[in-house]
Amino acid sequence: MNEQGEGIGRVNGYTLFIKDAVIGDRIEGKVVKAKKHYGYGRVLSILEPSPFRVTPRCPAAAPCGGCQLQAMSYERQLQFKEDKVRNHLVRIGGFSEDSLPMEPILGMEIGEEPFSEKETRGETGGSGPFHYRNKGQFPFGRAKDGRIVYGFYAGRTHSIVEAEGCCLGAPVCEKILQTIKRFMEEYHIEPYNEETHSGLIRHALIRTGYHTGEIMVCLVINGDRLPRAQVLTDRLMEIKGMASVSVNINRERTNVILGEKVVCLSGLPYITDRIGALTYKISPQSFYQVNPVQTEKLYGKVLEYAGLTGSETVWDLYCGIGTISLFLAQRAKQVFGVEIVPAAIENARENAKLNGIPNTEFFVGKAEEVVPRWYEEHEEASVDVIVVDPPRKGCDETLLKTMVQMRPGKIIYVSCDSATLARDLKYLCEEAYRVEKVQPVDMFPQGVHCEVCVELGRNKTI
Ligand code: SAH
Repeated sequence: MNEQGEGIGRVNGYTLFIKDAVIGDRIEGKVVKAKKHYGYGRVLSILEPSPFRVTPRCPAAAPCGGCQLQAMSYERQLQFKEDKVRNHLVRIGGFSEDSLPMEPILGMEIGEEPFSEKETRGETGGSGPFHYRNKGQFPFGRAKDGRIVYGFYAGRTHSIVEAEGCCLGAPVCEKILQTIKRFMEEYHIEPYNEETHSGLIRHALIRTGYHTGEIMVCLVINGDRLPRAQVLTDRLMEIKGMASVSVNINRERTNVILGEKVVCLSGLPYITDRIGALTYKISPQSFYQVNPVQTEKLYGKVLEYAGLTGSETVWDLYCGIGTISLFLAQRAKQVFGVEIVPAAIENARENAKLNGIPNTEFFVGKAEEVVPRWYEEHEEASVDVIVVDPPRKGCDETLLKTMVQMRPGKIIYVSCDSATLARDLKYLCEEAYRVEKVQPVDMFPQGVHCEVCVELGRNKTI
């Protein structure tokens, strides 16, 4: 299977990528697109099912772009992810497979599912954990027959797959989405149409605090205001745990889900959740890890790898709402956080206060601009540990260069895309660092993505 989770098949040496085929299947397929050296196909029938094949739990697993691996046993999913990370480090990073200090992937245990509730008990099929996501972003639109629908985008496209009762999220999402849909039908509020750039309701962002049960709903609209907003907010506020209802204004022709402006309609403009002993405020625009159970394990690794004693100066780059920063600050002298989203930095500063952690300072801006500027003014300052947790595109080379110049004894790289991780590690390891430990963590059971935490040490001789 390739990195997107498509099966890779061969017919007389010709390579075909086939969606919905699992490693080890023998299938009869149909070629839908043929290029000179490879082509794409789809499954017509499964001649011999793979020993790793399972019946997916969700009826929409195949068309939906969310769960690429749901037809595969969880054990095999974990191995797929480990292999992917190792392959990237070897092929892109240039590391030798034998000497890679890679730990076995930290999978999620069945029974740990945070949002498994009485509604989900009757579900059958699938393998491994479900109902772990604290967040969903559901597009609204019209089906071919004219009905208002919500769900998820199909793989590689923007057609909406109706996914009632998604098996990854909290069951309460369904109630919320139904409430919104009924409201739209009743008051003739049009869902957004990407092609014509008309209509109002684009997405509903729903986030649930696992430890607090607080729920946030943010409706992304292609307009300045939501008509009859009071009716909808009254209905939503009746749902147990509802703590924040807002609209986000996004009038651009764009794939980016959220616009810049958020208007709070009811409750508070944020929800609160806990990770370990710390409490965090989270705004709609702020990033917050989606799998609360695995996040604790990941942050635990970051802390372990950082090996702090209380005297260190630490940078947490791409810090979001300061989650990792505050974890580290409890065991360091000083922590500096950098993040591009202003609302997230506001959360980070409030979160530091809320938890009584004074030794943090947060900067808004691009890490690749803030850090080099700071370093120019503080060339003498010593930095002990730098943690980076960039989005999928990885770190900018300007940033990596400055990090090397700052000479921290350790760099901890948290990555959600092992291809860009491998590229960046290659750079760092050509410049005085070596990989000490690689720990894949499965944050996204049923999907192809994999989180990785890497500890780098500085070579003593340089
Ligand atoms: N460490 C945090 C957030 C990680 S997600 C946590 O675990 O919760 C990556 C974060 O990087 C997001 O909050 C995103 O807004 C931010 N970001 C994206 N590009 C950035 C850049 N160029 N400079 C700084 N932050 C950036």
